[in-house]
Amino acid sequence: MTPTGYLNGDWAAPEALRISPLDRGFLFADGVYEVICAFDGAPFALAPHLERLQRSLDGIELANPLTAPAWTALLEEAIARSGGGDLSIYLQVTRGVQPRRDHAPPAAPVPTVFLLTGALPATPAQVLTEGLAAITRPDPRWARCDIKSIALLPNVLLRGAASAANASECLLLRDGQLTEGAASNVFVVREGKVLTPPADAHILHGVTRDELITLARRSGIDVGEQPLTQAMLEGAEEIWVTSTTRGVLPVTRLDGQAIGTGVPGRLWHRLHGLWQAHIDDFRRQVAAGKPR
Ligand code: PMP
Repeated sequence: MTPTGYLNGDWAAPEALRISPLDRGFLFADGVYEVICAFDGAPFALAPHLERLQRSLDGIELANPLTAPAWTALLEEAIARSGGGDLSIYLQVTRGVQPRRDHAPPAAPVPTVFLLTGALPATPAQVLTEGLAAITRPDPRWARCDIKSIALLPNVLLRGAASAANASECLLLRDGQLTEGAASNVFVVREGKVLTPPADAHILHGVTRDELITLARRSGIDVGEQPLTQAMLEGAEEIWVTSTTRGVLPVTRLDGQAIGTGVPGRLWHRLHGLWQAHIDDFRRQVAAGKPR
């Protein structure tokens, strides 16, 4: 695939695009974003991503610069310019450029719209057979983690802490309760039951989280959305993390200790199978030219 960039009407290689240093995204991280996958050249779970983008924009009181059909057309053009196939698309909307640096939001902002496509790395086979390592850390973030804000400094630092510990993800605890991963939502299996923290303002309402819950329930697997303590996390039979680019992956080591039997668990295998079948189904719909 060819990485492609879009900025306020211009298409170019991403590194060739230029923004003003007076953009409020650059100065204040005053903006929101989405990450969407395309499979076989078609955007996956587009409606829930565009709905979440709208909620994020509402959360920062910024009017959506594009209608849903215009977003769809823009994303489709980005995919086509990148050569189609499987890829990821990053989109960002900021409160635009102001003549001088001023915290106060302008009365009539002209939003900056930025898009970037990238390759979708395949999950290494070893991750599927052995699982991931994760660490836990206190959740240092603000009280509106449901807004997909571009202010990702805590997430960046937490990811650094995970890398330094040879781990792939950092699971976060706020006042002793599990919230989510630094870049994922979290599921836990206890006494054979699938549990995940509730979708409140302390977590991002993950599109993968929602879709996985729907798939599980459709197959008769109950999913409880409830607060989870650190002790419940540490004593879990299974832990999984979900995100758009990674799907659902098993965590088998937490802070250096084995989770459950130390290998991906029975329920993860089942849900991962359902997830793969869901993507395969989407690919069949794309091939058949069906509206999705
Ligand atoms: N929580 C956080 C903090 C994230 O950054 C992400 C993914 N970017 C998720 C959850 C998962 O969300 P989704 O399934 O919509 O990618």
